[in-house]
This record gives sequence, C-alpha cells and structure tokens, in this order.
Amino acid sequence: MVRPVTCPICHKPVQASKTLPFCSERCRTIDFFRWNDGRYAIVEPLDPNRIEEELLKASDPEAEEYTEE
Ligand SMILES: [Zn+2]
Repeated sequence: MVRPVTCPICHKPVQASKTLPFCSERCRTIDFFRWNDGRYAIVEPLDPNRIEEELLKASDPEAEEYTEE
C-alpha cells in the first residue's frame, strides 16, 4: 500500500523526491533549524537516569588519558 508522503513541516503532499521527506528545500531548512533550536528535544523528555549515565561517561577521567604530555 502506497501512502502519499506529506511534508512534516507544512503537511503538503511531497512531489519532488529529491527533497524527501520535505516538500521543498525551504521546509528542509526549517526542520533543520527546529532541531538546532532544541525545540524537538521537549517532545521526548529524556530519562534522568540516562542523562546521569551520559554525564558520567562525559566526565570519565580515563577518556582523557589519550592527551599527550
Ligand atoms: Zn513543506
């Protein structure tokens, strides 16, 4: 079954396949800036435990052992 592809930004049917899944270069740019804003980050709240895990990983002293003296 083929579903018509609609642009996630303006919800118009997408016709040019080279800009998929967006209808145009403009909507693709809009989407890019939305991600950049972090606006989408609010949609799916992160698990606090996972954030802590990521922070520990980021501040892991062993990760910096590769810096040469
Ligand atoms: Zn669009």
